[in-house]
Amino acid sequence: MLSPQLEAIRHLVTGTCSEGRTLGMQLEQHSLHYQATTEFSLAPQINRLGLTEQFNPSPLVLDNGDVLHTLSVEQRCVLYEALAYVDPNLIFSCPTPGMAGFVLQAMGNDEQQERFFGRFRDRLSWSCYAMSEPGVGSDAGNIASTATKVDGGYLINGEKYFIGNGAHADIGVVFARTNPGPIGTDVFLFEPDRLEGLHRTRLNTYGVPGSAIAHLKFDNVFVDDDALLGAHLKPTQRFSGAAITTFDSLRPCVGGLTLGTVRALVEHAEQQGAIARTYHHKWLQQAQRELASSLAQLLDIARRFDQGQKVSQAVGLAKAKAVQTAESVCDALLHRLEPGALASDPLLAKLYRDLKSFEYAEGTRQIHFLNAHKQFQEATR
Ligand SMILES: Cc1cc2nc3c(=O)[nH]c(=O)nc-3n(C[C@H](O)[C@H](O)[C@H](O)COP(=O)(O)OP(=O)(O)OC[C@H]3O[C@@H](n4cnc5c(N)ncnc54)[C@H](O)[C@@H]3O)c2cc1C
Repeated sequence: MLSPQLEAIRHLVTGTCSEGRTLGMQLEQHSLHYQATTEFSLAPQINRLGLTEQFNPSPLVLDNGDVLHTLSVEQRCVLYEALAYVDPNLIFSCPTPGMAGFVLQAMGNDEQQERFFGRFRDRLSWSCYAMSEPGVGSDAGNIASTATKVDGGYLINGEKYFIGNGAHADIGVVFARTNPGPIGTDVFLFEPDRLEGLHRTRLNTYGVPGSAIAHLKFDNVFVDDDALLGAHLKPTQRFSGAAITTFDSLRPCVGGLTLGTVRALVEHAEQQGAIARTYHHKWLQQAQRELASSLAQLLDIARRFDQGQKVSQAVGLAKAKAVQTAESVCDALLHRLEPGALASDPLLAKLYRDLKSFEYAEGTRQIHFLNAHKQFQEATR
């Protein structure tokens, strides 16, 4: 059971179901029209999601009377679950500080925060988080892009792949290596429109087209010294601030996206008569219980993160488990659908397809299991 406040967050978001699903379907047909999301009634809030009052003139106003500027990971997780229930395209395509915002919060100095968050305070904007690379994927320890120190700044060279909103982001962060070795990776703030030598190509996608993933090529791109994030931190803290804190904060939320997508799938199948309600009554109740319990597990980890506990290992496993639960509920549903239901119902087919993307976003379960195994071995050595 959700607390009254978390229930109110869910209610605020699912209240946009009708307009949100219409918008989601528009993005399916014309994913280049990402700017249609500016019409979404929660766009101002998502554009400043979790920002402090100083940068956030449009907080979340809940029907229990609470007004939220900043968000705990627990609150964010519930919001993401509800947004995916409305349409998974929305979290990717709406204007928002997104993953880059976490990096700026963890590592940005006052000027960098003003440069980044000030933009979101003043107007609807899109951001990107450029880490994954061709041939390297999201294996951050093996990043190949380089940032070479020159007079007044750095020259960035390399390629980034699968970068959400990469082709149209107004501002973002890019990971590049300033030194060889395990702690030689740094993060730079960049505004793509202002840079010479940056080539951006949108990639075709099958699922969640709203993610607008792109291929970025950096060819001697100059960024000034002020672009380096976390210059005041030790190199070890820089990488953990940028990557680990971001992933730990977002993994429960990606788990939430998965569960919200399947909650919508099950409810839609039931409402449309795609599954025989009387015959499968018990299974439907069980599916809802499984999804609710998986969400409760995510929220438990999120709360522990919010309390300052180290949860990297548990959070990866919780995300992997949420995806596994969501996929198994989805598979069980498919076996219970009326003949032809998947082929004749576009929303059903779309949600089934979109679900697959969450296995890859924020790391596959194989990687989470391997990481957990390695950490377990180290802890018990
Ligand atoms: C919708 C979407 C949006 C995204 N947005 C962004 C973004 O904004 N910015 C960004 O930087 N990235 C983004 N990504 C990329 C994403 O983070 C990576 O795709 C994801 O983490 C997986 O990395 P990969 O594709 O390189 O696969 P890999 O990590 O290479 O994995 C491929 C397969 O190999 C397996 N595998 C890999 N290594 C091992 C191993 N050592 N042992 C056993 N099996 C292994 C994996 O389990 C998997 O099955 C996005 C991806 C998606 C799907």
